[in-house]
Amino acid sequence: MKPTEIKNKRVTILGAERSGLGAAKLLAHHGARLLVSEKDALKFTAEKREFFASINAKFEFGYHSDDVFDADFIVVSPGIPENAEIMAKIKAKQIPVYSEVEVASWFIDEPIIAVTGSNGKTTTVNLIHHVLTACGINTFLGGNVGQAISEVILARQASDAENAVFVLEVSSFQLDHVERFHPKVAMILNLSPDHLDRYDSVEDYYSSKLGIWRNLGGQDLIGFNVDDERLVRAEKPNAKLLGFGTTDSPQLFATVRDGELGIIQNGGFQAIIPASELPIPGPHNVSNALACITATSAFVPDLGDIGAALRTFTPVPHRIEYVETIKGIRFYNDSKATNVASTAVAIQSFNEPEWVILGGKDKGGEFYTLAVDLARHARKVLLVGKAAPIIAEQLAGAVEMETVGTIGNAIDYALRYGQAGDVVLLSPGCASFDQFDNYEQRGEFFISIVKQRKERLAQ
Ligand code: ADP
Repeated sequence: MKPTEIKNKRVTILGAERSGLGAAKLLAHHGARLLVSEKDALKFTAEKREFFASINAKFEFGYHSDDVFDADFIVVSPGIPENAEIMAKIKAKQIPVYSEVEVASWFIDEPIIAVTGSNGKTTTVNLIHHVLTACGINTFLGGNVGQAISEVILARQASDAENAVFVLEVSSFQLDHVERFHPKVAMILNLSPDHLDRYDSVEDYYSSKLGIWRNLGGQDLIGFNVDDERLVRAEKPNAKLLGFGTTDSPQLFATVRDGELGIIQNGGFQAIIPASELPIPGPHNVSNALACITATSAFVPDLGDIGAALRTFTPVPHRIEYVETIKGIRFYNDSKATNVASTAVAIQSFNEPEWVILGGKDKGGEFYTLAVDLARHARKVLLVGKAAPIIAEQLAGAVEMETVGTIGNAIDYALRYGQAGDVVLLSPGCASFDQFDNYEQRGEFFISIVKQRKERLAQ
């Protein structure tokens, strides 16, 4: 749909959280007639009521009325599962359903760099945003990270920058309902099982991610990880294919040679930055930096500028973030590791003996795949939250485990039995919703308890 066609369209927005509210604001700004329908009564706040009044939107909380179906199209929040009752009803009535990413993209006619993948999205989009900004390019960052895309568009419309680039992090849920979404650069970082509580099969999840490439062609750029076999094999549209990683491939573009990250251009290798000078640790971050180089080299003519910018990047919180050292034991917060693959990466990032805090709300994760890494790196696994019995069962016999229930108990346990030189790693491999509102709150909680213990011991 074109922005000019939005005026007076009847639109239902399902879900009154970040992306739903963003879409409401953007569509109201362009004259749509809105109903915001949110099933969870607890999501209602006076602030939201004021907001809906200010944009002249109708709203309902605690139920979905039949008014939902009185719509030209529906914008569905990424939090609503495909098998929700309301989705079946909408499907039966054949009302078009779009994600916020799709709707927002109708309003963007500047280049979009879109990034998806199972892990590393936030780090990579922040890297890209940092590098482009440092190189003097007006860059607007949003999506699954920071502001909803709709909010970013309103910010863009209000700015007087002449040219801009949009850097968008998109999750698989946001890609479930896209139709015309057409980035200039679309990257998939990796594919590993996740969200099996929401998808019928892992193939459904992968095919949802691959949707990011659907509309690309001609001179558009497809960035993909050549170290990920699924991505190498995946069908790709007829656009420019740029591989990043260390496996040999005819499409290899950004890679590592003699410890330096760089690109292959005109048959030769052009170094950009030594891996040892990246300000973020671990091999997974080399991969993220290569993805960033792939995307940004299409916009920045001088490769030296990309290298200089990468050196000044500050790590994103909650991703293998150093917290404190107590009694010689180093504490790291990797609360953002909400699936098993990201936990594996974190476990592999240290040479010291680890106390690994695992657990939370299980998403169908295959914890037994961590057995080898844990056997190699962990002194003990400390189990917390609802998933503790499932993890205990899957890792039985592979590693020593102790069910401690809460993150606070895990910290105290590690302080009691740990030795100087050990690492305590909160890298739960699960969602946080059993005990926390989100992973940020879980990470902040971990940090606050670690700091409290440090202060107490100093007294
Ligand atoms: P996302 O936004 O995709 O969840 P983040 O950048 O927030 O990814 O990183 C989340 C966690 O995933 C990190 O704490 C780290 O443990 C792991 N991770 C980061 N990058 C990668 C990668 N390229 N491959 C595998 N795991 C990664």
